[in-house]
Formats: sequence, C-alpha cells, structure tokens
Amino acid sequence: MHLPAHEFVKPATLAEGLSLLQSAAGEIKPVAGGTDVIYNMRGRLFQPDVLLSVRELPELQGVRSAAGGRMRLGAGSRLTDLERSPELAAYPMLVRALRSVASRHVRNMATLGGNLCLDTRCWYTNQTAEWRQAKGPCLKNGVNVCHAIQSSEVCVALNASDIAPALIAHGARVTLACADGERELLLADFYTDDGVAHTLRRADELMVAVTLPPPPADAVFVKETARKGNDFSYGVIAAAGEVAGELVTGLTLVMGSLTTRPVSLVEPVRLIATQGLTDTAIAAAAAATREELGALTNLYTPAAYKSTLARALVTEALQRLRGAAA
Ligand SMILES: Cc1cc2nc3c(=O)[nH]c(=O)nc-3n(C[C@H](O)[C@H](O)[C@H](O)COP(=O)(O)OP(=O)(O)OC[C@H]3O[C@@H](n4cnc5c(N)ncnc54)[C@H](O)[C@@H]3O)c2cc1C
Ligand code: SF4
Repeated sequence: MHLPAHEFVKPATLAEGLSLLQSAAGEIKPVAGGTDVIYNMRGRLFQPDVLLSVRELPELQGVRSAAGGRMRLGAGSRLTDLERSPELAAYPMLVRALRSVASRHVRNMATLGGNLCLDTRCWYTNQTAEWRQAKGPCLKNGVNVCHAIQSSEVCVALNASDIAPALIAHGARVTLACADGERELLLADFYTDDGVAHTLRRADELMVAVTLPPPPADAVFVKETARKGNDFSYGVIAAAGEVAGELVTGLTLVMGSLTTRPVSLVEPVRLIATQGLTDTAIAAAAAATREELGALTNLYTPAAYKSTLARALVTEALQRLRGAAA
C-alpha cells in the first residue's frame, strides 16, 4: 500500500531538528530507520503531516567511552554497527540482544532509538487498514474502546523491543533532548503501563543517547520466538550480576514482550540474592514471577502460555547464569 501524503524533513543538526519539533503546527513524527514507522504508515495506523528524519543527525551517532568506565551509544546508531562495534565487545549479552532483532536486512536500517521508542503492538494493530475499519477505531485513535481486551480501559498492546530488557538489566540511562535542554533518566523508568503513551518521551523531545555503566561480570539473554532470525519475541529475559559459585551479587532480571512495558522482577531477584543459585531457589524464583507481570493478555499467544513461558524463561536464564560462572 502506498504511503499517505506527508512532508519529509531532514534537519542537518540536532538543534535544527528540535526546533522543528517545538514549532510544528501539525502532527510531526520522528523517523530513524523507518522499519516500523513506514510499515505502520502504510497500514494507516497513523498519518503524520511531517516525518522528521533523525537517523543521520551527527549528535546521535557512534559509540564512545564516557567518564567512570561508562559507554555512550548514540540513539541514531544502526543495530548492525552496534553489534559489530569493538567498544561493545565487553557487553556480550547486549550484543546477543542486538543480533536477536529481526533479520540482517532490518538491522541494517534499524536504529537503537527506534527500537527503544518502538510503538506498542497487538493483533488489531497488525491488521490491514480495511480490516481495522470494519472493527472501528480504538484507544490508539482516541476512542474509548479496546478490541483486543474489551474490558480494558487502557491500551494493553505489547512492548516488543528486544533491546530494552537487555539495556535495563545493565542499568542503562537514556538522554532525551528538547529545544530547552537535556534530561537523563533510567531506561527502566522510561516506559509506562499505557500502550498509547507508552514512554515518558514528550512530543518535543528526541532520544539522543543511551549510557551504559561498566559491564557486569556475568549476563545472559534468552529470546523465545516462532521463527529465529526474523521475528518479534513471544518473550525475552535479560539477566545480569556477578556470580561466584551459587552466590550472586547485583542481580537484575528483566522480562520483555509479555506486557506493555519491560518488567524488572523484584521477588525472584530477592529469592536468589538471599538463597543463591540453588535448584530450590531457582524453582521458587520462577514460581514467584507470574504475579509480578500483572494481567497477562491473549495477545499473540494465550495468557496461559505466557505464564508458562515466563517461568521457563526465568528458569533458563538463572540456570545459564549459574553455568556461566561454572
Ligand atoms: C520483519 C520485522 C521484524 C522485526 N523483528 C523485531 C524483533 O525481533 N525485535 C525487535 O525488537 N524489533 C523488531 N522489529 C521492529 C523494528 O524494526 C525494530 O525495533 C527497529 O529497531 C526499529 O528501529 P527504526 O530505527 O527502524 O525505528 P523507526 O521505525 O524509525 O521508529 C520507531 C519508533 O521510534 C521513534 N523514534 C525513532 N528514533 C527516535 C529518536 N531518536 N527519538 C525519539 N523517537 C524516535 C519513531 O517515531 C517511532 O515511533 C521488526 C520489524 C520488522 C519489519
Ligand atoms: S491493545 Fe486495544 S487499544 Fe491497544 S492498540 Fe490493541 S486494540 Fe487498540
């Protein structure tokens, strides 16, 4: 299907882009690799008046070391360049997550910022415009109806970013810029439970960079999907910490693709921190996971499958973490 009419603007600098965002009269949407935006515009999920191209903004490029052993990743960096970057070799779990996204062709276009700001998805949004027209609009179009979960008053579409859980497990921070300055927040705090306004990014802001603390000693990433090498996840988990025998310090466990935001697990982490990576503690951590995910929907996979998958992902991640240190 052809793209709806729109103006395409390509600012030369970040300042110019932010000024355009601030002064926009109609709806203006950032586009980076366009692997999601263009697809969604063809499907008439949204029809902005202006597309603001950010992928080649010089301020959003590259990977470089920052103070305190941290690493700064430009939000406009292509996933292919990041996964090959020598600076990121010290973060093998993140590289694994980057490589798990879609296919080589998609990753040659896709960017880090686009992945982290990826619009939420459900089976309704995945249909053609004609199909959706027959159902009518939903919360994403300003109407107080959710077709996916009819009893829901908020949009429950899923956050399908594979990279967000990996970065959150690393304790990453994001930098957002507007014409008046910059702010930085933990990526873990960037997402909300509302599939429509699913991040804290304001309309006049762009994501500029992601900053990573020094790499953890041990980390694992597990993705479950229908077809490896070209598909969104049914569920992912990222885990990081320092393992010594059965003891783990600084453990993080983050699940993605099961809910509207990536979820940082609390009780499973507490169980492992106090009891160690024993079989009994791993089983208890897996059992404690379901409650922290909140209401699971029948989006893409049945809710009961998601419960089972969540337990399996926690078990596998913790077993691999134990194995990583063996
Ligand atoms: C066949 C296929 C398979 C896919 N499989 C996966 C998968 O396995 N895992 C996965 O995680 N994703 C997957 N995707 C989704 C998507 O391609 C990737 O997440 C990709 O990284 C998006 O990056 P992009 O630069 O193309 O984003 P775009 O499409 O350009 O933008 C995506 C969103 O981010 C916003 N945005 C982009 N850059 C910025 C910025 N700097 N500041 C503020 N907002 C910004 C846009 O406005 C838009 O809302 C798949 C897509 C396709 C087509
Ligand atoms: S989850 Fe509901 S409100 Fe959200 S996009 Fe899907 S149908 Fe619309």
